[in-house]
Amino acid sequence: MERSLVLLKPDAIDRGLIGEIISRFERAGLKIAGLKMTWPKKELAAKHYTEDLAQRRGEHVRNLMIEMLTSGPIVAICLEGVEAVEIVRKMVGTTEPKAAAPGTIRGDYSHVSFKHADSKKMGVYNLVHASGSVPEAESEIAVWFSPEELHEHKPGYTKHTIAY
Ligand code: ADP
Repeated sequence: MERSLVLLKPDAIDRGLIGEIISRFERAGLKIAGLKMTWPKKELAAKHYTEDLAQRRGEHVRNLMIEMLTSGPIVAICLEGVEAVEIVRKMVGTTEPKAAAPGTIRGDYSHVSFKHADSKKMGVYNLVHASGSVPEAESEIAVWFSPEELHEHKPGYTKHTIAY
């Protein structure tokens, strides 16, 4: 069984989309192993958006993302399921909202391009973060959750999906 980390970023909370987004994951039969609302400080945001992001997208993008993540409360969710990392990424859609397919969270609730965000010198607001790989999920879950905040329960709906 695999776990993935999802963050509902401040734009998702600002737009009142917490319930809609979480219900998509529940509907797919993924188990919610942990869930919390928190308003991160810069140190925590920097642990999440690491040097790796600066190397891939540039230091300015990392700084914009840290600023964005500390601008309001976020919802952190640990999801569990069969190959959950890949499944959750598929449901979230690609990074650039313009390119995200309809039916994905980013494709259904956002549309802007990298070009537009760059012209405004702002981060791309794409509502959610989802872990990119299993090792990344492990380290990201540890950033946001202590072991006792993650639960080993088996909610009824998972009988038909995960079949523990
Ligand atoms: P993902 O969140 O899809 O894994 P990345 O880890 O590459 O994507 O980037 C982290 C976040 O940084 C993205 O979700 C997006 O909000 C933002 N971002 C990425 N590239 C840019 C960019 N060129 N300009 C502004 N924001 C960006």
